[in-house]
Amino acid sequence: MADDYEKLLDATIQHLEELKSCGVRHVAVAPETLAALAKPITGRDAPPGRLEKVSPHKSDEPAARPYQKTTSAPAAEQTTLLALPGETVASQDPPLDPQAKAVAFAALRERALACVKCAHLASSRKNVVFGVGNIDAQIMFIGEAPGADEDEQGEPFVGKAGQLLTKIIQATGLKRADVYIANILKCRPDTPGQTAGNRKPTSDEMATCIPYLHEQIDLIRPKVIVALGATAVEGLLGKTIGITKLRGTWKTYRGTPLMPTYHPAYLLRNQAMSEKRKVWEDMLAVMEKLEMPISDKQRNYFLKA
Ligand code: URA
Repeated sequence: MADDYEKLLDATIQHLEELKSCGVRHVAVAPETLAALAKPITGRDAPPGRLEKVSPHKSDEPAARPYQKTTSAPAAEQTTLLALPGETVASQDPPLDPQAKAVAFAALRERALACVKCAHLASSRKNVVFGVGNIDAQIMFIGEAPGADEDEQGEPFVGKAGQLLTKIIQATGLKRADVYIANILKCRPDTPGQTAGNRKPTSDEMATCIPYLHEQIDLIRPKVIVALGATAVEGLLGKTIGITKLRGTWKTYRGTPLMPTYHPAYLLRNQAMSEKRKVWEDMLAVMEKLEMPISDKQRNYFLKA
């Protein structure tokens, strides 16, 4: 028994060392594991079960936020684990090993796909809509929640609004596959008793689901986040001034510059050129931030609007 314990301990240490050598600086640990680890070891025959939960978390739970404040870590450790709100931690970290990143991303996806934290959404969804695109993308687009088409296909932004988003992305010279697209909520908000239509995610649903998005952001480490629409902006930044005033102004989210803009569904409802022009201006600002080439044609789209 003690031998097994030693082997498990060695394997765990080796695994953590490997992660460290790949550039991983944070591992998510369930609160009960942290509590168990903080207990003094009373002898060599510490119960083997102590290590059983060293694997980051239960499969249906998002991991603790990598930079989240924990109370059980000693102060000296906290400085390496934690960042103050708004501080950039990810960009200070050495680049992630591509293979370790892909593995971590796939594991995150598996956890999200099995999530049943919101029982009402887990029972009504057809698919968990985790996200799509390039996990090394410089730009990450974030919407609020999947609609019926997205639920059906398991991919974000594939309905009419999604098709418009794809056109906007292409207008920058990028392809949809070059960027990463995700939502705050990974499940379609249920609409009991309704045969059609969508509903806004509740703040509880967003708070429950957002740790998955945080992990996506922390692994992808985009250079810019584009938040699509008032609900997404509210889910990310909290209640602030309305989207009409907020759009086009740079914010910071988890250390990453964030551009709030209108949701493409708004542009479908409001066909005015002036509104399209505003979204395009926001995209030009994103392109400038990323030092992407901008042609005269791109600069002058909608100029008369
Ligand atoms: N609206 C969103 O916010 N997200 C989607 O995936 C589709 C529509």
